[in-house]
Amino acid sequence: MSLNGRSESMPLAKYPDSVLTTPAQPVEQHEVDFVHELITETILYDCTWGTVLGLAAPQCLLSKRAFIASGMFFANPTIMYRSKETRLTSEGCYSLKQNKYDYKVRRHEEIDLHWFDLNWKEQVRTFKGKMAYVIQHEMDHLDGITLIERGKM
Ligand SMILES: [Zn+2]
Repeated sequence: MSLNGRSESMPLAKYPDSVLTTPAQPVEQHEVDFVHELITETILYDCTWGTVLGLAAPQCLLSKRAFIASGMFFANPTIMYRSKETRLTSEGCYSLKQNKYDYKVRRHEEIDLHWFDLNWKEQVRTFKGKMAYVIQHEMDHLDGITLIERGKM
């Protein structure tokens, strides 16, 4: 499926669409360009540019383990380490009715992440603060967890 020449927006998954509450499947190497393009196009067409911190493939109706956060692409991410230190953050989500930052969620202050990049190279890096919170939010989407479920944990 090609996204070239796309002129109409594709709908974002909205809660309670089942794609948002289903654990996603691993990305395969040959799918990486398609998955990246789908998320990028969805951000461009369906989100307010400049306000998007991150978007995960399941939010684009594709149940795959990938997301974009702060312009970086992550496929098959795994959190290798979580700091004991946590922080209560205020988060919103494009897949909830109103993308208001009124969900209080506890996140780890620092994480070590392993993932595959757009060139299918393995990466390991430490993320702290805001980027670490965004990644944890997007990782939740890959596990079928939205802010609504997270708020009940
Ligand atoms: Zn979200």
